[in-house]
Amino acid sequence: MPSEFELIRRRFTYPTDHTDLGIGDDCALFRTQTNMQTVVSTDMLVEGTHFLPDAHPFDVGWKTAAVNISDIAAMGAAPRWIVLSMALPAAEDAWVDAFSQGFFECCTAFGVDWIGGDTTRGPRALNATVIGEIPTGQAICRNGGRAGDDLWISGQPGLAALGLQHLQKKITLHPDWVEPCLTALHRPQPRVKLGQALRNIASAMLDVSDGVLGDLGHLLESSRCGASLEEALIPFAAPLAACGDKALAREMLLSGGDDYELLFSASPAHREKIAQISASLELPLTMIGSLSHKAGSIWWVMEDGTTEQGVAKGYDHFTEGK
Ligand code: ADP
Ligand code: MG
Repeated sequence: MPSEFELIRRRFTYPTDHTDLGIGDDCALFRTQTNMQTVVSTDMLVEGTHFLPDAHPFDVGWKTAAVNISDIAAMGAAPRWIVLSMALPAAEDAWVDAFSQGFFECCTAFGVDWIGGDTTRGPRALNATVIGEIPTGQAICRNGGRAGDDLWISGQPGLAALGLQHLQKKITLHPDWVEPCLTALHRPQPRVKLGQALRNIASAMLDVSDGVLGDLGHLLESSRCGASLEEALIPFAAPLAACGDKALAREMLLSGGDDYELLFSASPAHREKIAQISASLELPLTMIGSLSHKAGSIWWVMEDGTTEQGVAKGYDHFTEGK
């Protein structure tokens, strides 16, 4: 008699596009191309920590794939293969079906073959490992930023965090913004095309999962740089329109997280090319400041031209009363 979990495993029969042997054997088989480096990353989502217990399983599936693929995008690489390990409290057919559809749909959207995994009983947790490829030597790491480089952010950070606040009933979003914020939260779009377009342009890059400032801190640490950020350039308008509260909009954009946008540095000589990439991908790319020599420090250039060493102070202030 097959166990419930064996029955679940047998349902995983997803087609592959560039794989020699997919789900069903002890291992999968695929070939990597010559002159390419293989990139690997893994990310785990735990119920209650990374998603709410009542989250729709399709969305959880999409997000489990998306946050993994986002790491590959952040290296400038092409995502190719993914494996998925699931711990489930019970063999819940409907949940697994919807989850798998969401996971598969995201994989398909970004050209990734789902080639294996593991399924076991336990508190609900999902772990995926994604494998990608990049021409040797072209990966965009966190440590390549240089003083004088511009700092850029893709898309609209802040909306996903506002969506979560709304679901937790901490705030009420403007009705026009409920859907965009919830879509940003539930269906993050890994910036795969952007990452690849920025090869040989971005000097350092990472994806924003923990808030723009926190992740900027990682880039600065690795690149041994400081940064100056221009208040007037930060794209506050959309989060402000969504929640109507300037301090909250600021906090969500700068420290909220779950955005999966790309934060990158690039020489000012590349401004025109970056504008062209933005136009061709129909994706806003916003220059928010620049890298400086003073390792670890972040300075704000305020709209009236004064400067403030704002981040540490600002961050504490914004997290007060949370
Ligand atoms: P084993 O006993 O060798 O670990 P399993 O019974 O766990 O094999 O898995 C059988 C097949 O089903 C393998 O090819 C495995 O990759 C696949 N599989 C199991 N769970 C998943 C999952 N969550 N996603 C994709 N494939 C899975
Ligand atoms: Mg197994």
